[in-house]
Amino acid sequence: KLSNRLATVVKYIPKGFKIADIGSDHAYLPCHVVAQGLVPFAIAGEVVEGPFQSAKKQVALEGLTEKISVRMGSGLEVISPNEVDCITIAGMGGALIASILDEGKDKLGSVQRLILQPNLSAKSIRTWLIDHHWELVGEEILEEDDKIYEVLIAEKGDPLAPYSNETLESDLLFGPFLKKQKSETFTKKWLNEKKNWERILQQIETASNQGENNPKREELLNKIKMVEEVLN
Ligand code: SAM
Repeated sequence: KLSNRLATVVKYIPKGFKIADIGSDHAYLPCHVVAQGLVPFAIAGEVVEGPFQSAKKQVALEGLTEKISVRMGSGLEVISPNEVDCITIAGMGGALIASILDEGKDKLGSVQRLILQPNLSAKSIRTWLIDHHWELVGEEILEEDDKIYEVLIAEKGDPLAPYSNETLESDLLFGPFLKKQKSETFTKKWLNEKKNWERILQQIETASNQGENNPKREELLNKIKMVEEVLN
């Protein structure tokens, strides 16, 4: 059975789409969607030998070798042009996910949907999407095993559609959909972050008397203010 986190990613895969799951580790996601008959074909990409072998083993174990191609390589280099309609990348930092998309830009021609699950810094992804004409069309936030995860769904379109000019900075940090929904999990996540920032702020202020002009301090104060605004 898939984790709640991966099941949330799966929820957004359109039926019948061919997918590539990048950084697939055990290939649990591709195995699940192919076994369920949700997708006809999947690529599982891995850049590290151990997880690559785990993926091959799992696919063989489930008897899915004809429909799942396990490939060794970094990011989107394992995909040929026009091979898939949808890409999933889950369980990595947002900056790494953004860099994988950036390095693989030329492979995105046939791709209609991206489903991305950053463990942190979803903001890096939102920024990359805007800069590359992908429209964020949905977001989800969920908690599992005391960790909070975000899932971002994007399609080609108007990259600024979900954002408001006056609140762009805050939209990018919190997510335009998530901040509107303002779920319990969302509130929990950002109250936590705020508490961390306040602790760091206090450390900066006790450690130095030049705190006044410290750019880090300004940044923290700004982020704390944004959390207060969004949660009020
Ligand atoms: N996607 C699975 C999930 O969400 O449960 C596995 C997540 S695991 C924490 C991250 C995986 O991404 C690791 O197996 C790692 O080897 C792989 N990875 C990291 N950078 C990668 C890259 N540039 N290309 C392909 N795989 C990568």
